[in-house]
Amino acid sequence: MINFTVGPVQSSDAVRAVGSENVPYFRTPEFSAVMKENEALIKKFAKAEDTARVVFLTGSGTASMEASVMNTLTPEDKAIVINGGSFGERFVQICHLHQIPITEIKPEVGHALTAEMLAPYENQGYTAFIVNVHETSTGVHYDMDLISEFCRRNGLFLIVDAISSFLADSFNMKEYGADIMITGSQKALACPPGISVIVLSEKALARVAASQTTCMYLDLKSALSNGERGQTPFTPAVGILLQINARLKAIEASGGVEAETAKIAALAQDFRDKIAQLPFEIVSESMSNAVTPLHPLTASAYDVFVTLKDEYGIWVCPNGGAMSQIIFRVGHIGELTPADNDQLIDALKDMQRRGLI
Ligand SMILES: *Cc1c(COP(=O)(O)O)cnc(C)c1O
Repeated sequence: MINFTVGPVQSSDAVRAVGSENVPYFRTPEFSAVMKENEALIKKFAKAEDTARVVFLTGSGTASMEASVMNTLTPEDKAIVINGGSFGERFVQICHLHQIPITEIKPEVGHALTAEMLAPYENQGYTAFIVNVHETSTGVHYDMDLISEFCRRNGLFLIVDAISSFLADSFNMKEYGADIMITGSQKALACPPGISVIVLSEKALARVAASQTTCMYLDLKSALSNGERGQTPFTPAVGILLQINARLKAIEASGGVEAETAKIAALAQDFRDKIAQLPFEIVSESMSNAVTPLHPLTASAYDVFVTLKDEYGIWVCPNGGAMSQIIFRVGHIGELTPADNDQLIDALKDMQRRGLI
């Protein structure tokens, strides 16, 4: 089986070896040291300010999306949410649930965010801006320079879900003035699902300190105070945190975040070059390196996904809902090589010979 989905993805042998060991007791100086190292490396790779802090929540990415909104925004805020697909829609739901006043900006499916779309919202009393920098459901990667400048001009608190983009696309928290950056264990970190990560700027830390959140498990105040000594309020997914440690150290040892991003970009480009000879259309105008969204010109996208899975042992990522027959996605994150791309291309060529595409 080769897994080209966008998460969970394939892990390195070193990460899998850590996963095969017994999970140790964690209220120890040894585990605290691992957590401190994880915090330092995440900050370094996110290019966060020295004063930034990192929280590791046991829960999938959505837990960190909800925790970020709950702990830093209030009904006194007025937020803009970019809703270009199912992950943008999730932020809309979270804000409604927590009674955060929002305005949605909805780029068309597969389309970038433009200055024209933002213009009507200049100087309109907004306080916050929420975006999934890579809207994984459609493959669109939004222009962070555009967003960053808009937020600076308008003094907005900037929350960025970079769950599927962290490590795959270059990101500079300090330069963009992002106050929160979120990622998760099962995307380009290439570990099992179960841990999500929030990086908080000084401004975000001040908002958390002032927040009146009424949730015990997702209260970032207690996560941050426990984190000062490398601990968590409750039993975390200890094994995954150890796997994350192995993975972060491996990235650091082989050239750091720039080298990792370059590797993923090269793999994506290799695939995009090779797919050009087959009857598929790439359907996003501004792509992340993490994924290529494809529209089969001669078949149902869902049928291509099923045939690849059942007859070739290859998993691509189907789309949900209205898009399921039209688009499927090929991921470039996780332990994958150009030779794996070749296997997928060969399988698609075979399907073409068989008249299936
Ligand atoms: C994967 C992903 C999430 C998190 O989803 P979970 O299933 O909760 O891990 C959130 N946002 C984006 C953009 C994602 O790609």
